[in-house]
Amino acid sequence: MNETLNDLTQPFRIASEPWYRPVADEIALFEAAHAARMPVMLKGPTGCGKTRFVEHMAWRLGKPLVTVACNEDMTASDLVGRFLLDAAGTRWQDGPLTFAARHGAICYLDEVVEARQDTTIAIHPLTDNRRILPLEKKGELLRAHPDFQLVISYNPGYQALMKDLKQSTKQRFGALDFTWPDHGVEVEIVAHETGIDPALAEKLVAIAERARNLKGHGLDEGISTRMLVHAGGLIAQGVAPLAACRMALVRPITDDPDMRDALDAAVTTYF
Ligand code: ADP
Repeated sequence: MNETLNDLTQPFRIASEPWYRPVADEIALFEAAHAARMPVMLKGPTGCGKTRFVEHMAWRLGKPLVTVACNEDMTASDLVGRFLLDAAGTRWQDGPLTFAARHGAICYLDEVVEARQDTTIAIHPLTDNRRILPLEKKGELLRAHPDFQLVISYNPGYQALMKDLKQSTKQRFGALDFTWPDHGVEVEIVAHETGIDPALAEKLVAIAERARNLKGHGLDEGISTRMLVHAGGLIAQGVAPLAACRMALVRPITDDPDMRDALDAAVTTYF
């Protein structure tokens, strides 16, 4: 049979380049980590470019990418796999982690700290030099494909919410810090992603910078790059900037009327 048709990883291959604006030397560092098959942790707040970065890197390295959005109800079986009952009887279904380890994909576990602890422990044998995954229920000891690499994202801000990874998990990874891009870089990202004029993108970035200073003073998280892209997208659709900012930047991050009014007032100084 045709090789490509037979390739189960085909749906996980990224056909065209996901645009990514580097902020430091993260591309070269990730390439080196990939060459060494080192597990990598992308640290940073939500909406700062971690997912886009890993998509870009998978494309750049020509590797399939299996992404899992972790949540608190996720069990180790959701990640590793389980037996399913169908008309023909029972059959084993690889979970996304097993699939990636078997077929040599990059496996990206987004917000892994959300998952239950037994789920995080399941990744341990894959992240040391054994590179194995015991499939206990199936009675198989899977040796990871040589191309397999594990990448996780982690938001250090969540420590305040009593969510943290165990040291024994953290120490298995090399880590890259992601924060909000520098002013000019963020303007470039917002203008590129939405097609709005850079002068307008600059105002959106300035609003975000003011809101980020309020983090810890009534705001849990600042306005993210993702939210700026949303605001720019609305403006590109013809929404007036003031309404776009209220909808995409202010309302999502606060339920507190005083904070909402303060942020709305900040927006009106720009628009
Ligand atoms: P995270 O995974 O950190 O929550 P994302 O990668 O989904 O965040 O980023 C949110 C959006 O912000 C992306 O869809 C993209 O439009 C934009 N973005 C942020 N940083 C960058 C960057 N460095 N290059 C290109 N786009 C970026």
